[in-house]
Amino acid sequence: MYTRFLSIKILCALMIACPVSAQWREYNHVAMTTPINLVFWELHEQKANLIAKQVFQKFDSIEQDMSRYIADSELSLVNQTAAKQSVLVSASLFEVLSAAMNISRLSEGAFDITFASVGYLYDYRQKLQPSESAIQSGIHSVNYRYVHLDPKYKSVSFEVEGVMLDLGGIAKGYAVDQGIGVLQDHAIKNAHLSAGGDMRLLGDKMGKPWIIGIRNPRVEGKQSLIMPLSDTAISTSGDYERFFINDTGERIHHILSPKTGKPVKGLQSVSVLAADATTSDGLSTAIFVLGLEKGLALVNRLNGIDAVLIDEQGKVHYSEGLIQPE
Ligand code: ADP
Ligand code: MG
Repeated sequence: MYTRFLSIKILCALMIACPVSAQWREYNHVAMTTPINLVFWELHEQKANLIAKQVFQKFDSIEQDMSRYIADSELSLVNQTAAKQSVLVSASLFEVLSAAMNISRLSEGAFDITFASVGYLYDYRQKLQPSESAIQSGIHSVNYRYVHLDPKYKSVSFEVEGVMLDLGGIAKGYAVDQGIGVLQDHAIKNAHLSAGGDMRLLGDKMGKPWIIGIRNPRVEGKQSLIMPLSDTAISTSGDYERFFINDTGERIHHILSPKTGKPVKGLQSVSVLAADATTSDGLSTAIFVLGLEKGLALVNRLNGIDAVLIDEQGKVHYSEGLIQPE
């Protein structure tokens, strides 16, 4: 009886001392065929519900505008029309296209949203890969330089026929940034927002860093390393997200070389840290395509960017900013 009384007393004291745990709000959603997870610190439940709804609406509307798989999306209209005439687009689509072009220039074409001119021939669910001749007939249309953006009119045109854009390597990161923008508009200071491999952290976990795991590319549910992080974006691109093993035992995955139209070999995953998720998303795909040496060299050249690369043997490589001085 005494112990029971004591335990209730302790419980009450704990509840008064730390009513805070109830202020972490967690919400889940699915958009862009990806699970979205949102955690943030907000006292009022109703307000938190409203904020989460607005964040997820951003994801839904970005998917509706920027998916190549939605027939009446803005991006599909661009894909159908931009070789014939220039197409006026929304400010947000223009922003994503401009960011994609920047990453193409930085990576000398390793990141290239026109990869879809051959990329559309792959079907990972049906385990279909194109023949060599099908790749050869589409690969000529893969070149980001064929995409012309006019900032004055916010219009897009293609230099040649056959170009197809796909924003799968950057749009999720952009949506994460827009979601974080919603949280900031509501004066939220501590949050964790992830969409599959793209994540952004606002502030810290109330005085402690967020602990973020980088998964083992070959063992689901196992982590290769963990990092304490705050106020950053981090994106991971891997060869395990969408893939199948073909008849000859080759891993056919979703990150394609714009030069060959085939899945890139050499790395298992690349995680990039940057100030915003549009950049970390685009760069993680770009570095994956560049491979270990060129990829690390690019990261080390860029200010405010760091990366963790896992090679084909599962060995972990860090950019200079993450290596402890001896
Ligand atoms: P996810 O977050 O979906 O795993 P990643 O950021 O790893 O995506 O990028 C992979 C996606 O990027 C592919 O599914 C495809 O849509 C797109 N992609 C593939 N190759 C390239 C490339 N060379 N340049 C730009 N985008 C690409
Ligand atoms: Mg990416």
